[in-house]
Amino acid sequence: TLPYIDAEITNHPALSYELFPPRNAQAEETLWRTIRELESTAPDYVSVTYGAGGSNQGTALELLERLQNETRLRPLAHLTCVGSSGVELARTIEAIIGRGVRGILALRGDAPAGSSGRPSGELRYAQQLVELIRRIERQRTAHLAAGKVAIGVAAYSSRHPESPSFEHDVEVLLAKQSSGADFAITQIFFDANDYSSLLRRARQAGVHIPIIPGIMPLTSVRRLDRLAQLAGIDVDLAVRDRLASAGDDSTRQRIGIQATVDLANAALDAGAPGLHVYTFNEHVSALQLLEKLQLPRPAAPVRHKVLARA
Ligand code: FAD
Repeated sequence: TLPYIDAEITNHPALSYELFPPRNAQAEETLWRTIRELESTAPDYVSVTYGAGGSNQGTALELLERLQNETRLRPLAHLTCVGSSGVELARTIEAIIGRGVRGILALRGDAPAGSSGRPSGELRYAQQLVELIRRIERQRTAHLAAGKVAIGVAAYSSRHPESPSFEHDVEVLLAKQSSGADFAITQIFFDANDYSSLLRRARQAGVHIPIIPGIMPLTSVRRLDRLAQLAGIDVDLAVRDRLASAGDDSTRQRIGIQATVDLANAALDAGAPGLHVYTFNEHVSALQLLEKLQLPRPAAPVRHKVLARA
């Protein structure tokens, strides 16, 4: 069994957080305060984003290593294939596994803003990155008994911006599963009906891996607008209006957390096997969300440490 996705085995909804590598010393200090606060909620794993093309590879690997060695948290490494050669990707996969990390979120990434045409790189789709990770894992297992790597992939409740249809998105998810993906995490969404219809369509098409909803705390108008634009989806205008008309910060925070709790509960009611929370490296909203949700959690963090191999 894979500790990243053991929701069904341990009988509690999976819980995970997304973090991004810090850009400077001050951001690093804030991040580590956040990490220590989040650690107290015993998540199943925390994921570390990756700059498409490897722009922040050094800080991403460093954060993964510190999470692995200095905390009780289990890190999941995001990895994108856009703009990288097969050799570079193989080296990065080895670097991740070599640090003892046994979970990778295999993504395509996006070409830098302003560039046109199809993204560069030897691998065209995330599915091919899943295949590459499985190939490397097989080679290592033969030589070094490296152990199994859990592979996550992206899923879209509100259609990927480049995709011609919802059906195509589901076919892509099915293809990622066939190539060896163990679980999927969704892009942000504002309507739980979008998530439940993805779940239904995916199951009908033969996708059986857990599809975990990615939940963003809906507490900032600016962030709501920016993320909706990045994900290519329409912002929830009702929530946006309520946030925008809040008289002060604490009212806005309360309204935003309640809207997030409602969205998360609706996703769980629709059959979500857990929640993946986009933290933006801040703990306050994530902790308030968790407190209100009252998710059943295991008594203590349960990471079985895998020792790094050279
Ligand atoms: P793919 O699965 O390769 O899909 C990309 C497009 O190609 C889609 O339109 C799909 O329909 C199409 N497609 C895929 N396979 C095929 C095929 N075989 N034939 C025809 N068409 C196909 N970006 C980052 O840069 N760094 C991150 O850390 C990061 N983390 C993310 C985490 C999550 C949970 C999510 C949901 C997204 C994340 N992203 C990240 C964004 C992601 O890189 C973009 O959404 C990107 O545009 C698509 O990535 P993908 O892995 O879904 O690509």
